[in-house]
Amino acid sequence: MFATLSDRLAETFKNLRGKGRLSEADIDATAREIRIALLEADVALPVVKEFVAAVKERARGEEVSQALNPAQQVVKIVNDELVTILGGETRRLRYAKSGPTVIMLAGLQGAGKTTLAAKLALWLKEQGKSPLLVAADLQRPNAVQQLQVNGDKVGVPVFAPEPGNGVGDPVGVARASLEEAKRKLYDVVVVDTAGRLGVDADMMAQAAAIRDAVEPDEVLFVVDAMIGQDALTTAQAFLDGVGYDGVVLTKLDGDARGGAALSIRQVTGKPVMFASSGEKMTDFDVFHPDRMASRILD
Ligand code: GDP
Repeated sequence: MFATLSDRLAETFKNLRGKGRLSEADIDATAREIRIALLEADVALPVVKEFVAAVKERARGEEVSQALNPAQQVVKIVNDELVTILGGETRRLRYAKSGPTVIMLAGLQGAGKTTLAAKLALWLKEQGKSPLLVAADLQRPNAVQQLQVNGDKVGVPVFAPEPGNGVGDPVGVARASLEEAKRKLYDVVVVDTAGRLGVDADMMAQAAAIRDAVEPDEVLFVVDAMIGQDALTTAQAFLDGVGYDGVVLTKLDGDARGGAALSIRQVTGKPVMFASSGEKMTDFDVFHPDRMASRILD
């Protein structure tokens, strides 16, 4: 296991207690430890550099507090800064003012979209909504069936192409689902889309065509936290290729340190809105910046 930032700083600051203010040398030593801790948490290097510079700036101006020792104080600065960048308060879903709210999911194959679609539908139900799941991932042979299985688990209906009908036309399915939702008074439509194993122009074009057809209120980019630094490249590609309003991190039950959350937020400016943390339908929650900050630091 890695030493936590608190441990590292405690070591750095062993002889520091009682000084009125952190010296430039103290701040440099601190910056080095923060840099290592963030890199170990899988934060991308340019984001680490920017972050460390901001923390250095803040640390320079601070009096060493009476209540906290210098290490605790720096950890607090780093923690506060992380929470601020990760979005402060949780960003909530925006619902349509009239007609069904459309939420579209985009991301690579294997990111956890199909699982997430059902988890989100269950969560929406718990918020008093009446969701409809839409199987517009017609790329992967089992995706429609998988969504149906998951839809059954959470008691949410799935709109899918009839066998032999609409296959290969995800845009048509997505468009038709809106009519279905209006007719049957579903108030949130969650559209699952196809991913590929890697970033691919066809996949982006298809997702963009679905987006244009259904004009989502929210496009959510779904990304596996376990892919570490690659998450940032993928996030940027989807931002350019499809565009999105928020991010969902999946597989947080693994041992990913969570650096992806910080990198994505910092580089794309888009908030992480939800977190998925397991194979069970209830392993899902709105994203808590403060919890992620602790995960990155501990
Ligand atoms: P999609 O290709 O993006 O639709 O991804 P899937 O929803 O099919 O998920 C890919 C695999 O990851 C499946 O085996 C899921 O059971 C698994 N999975 C999805 N979300 C999570 C999660 O939060 N934690 C874990 N451990 N596994 C997950």
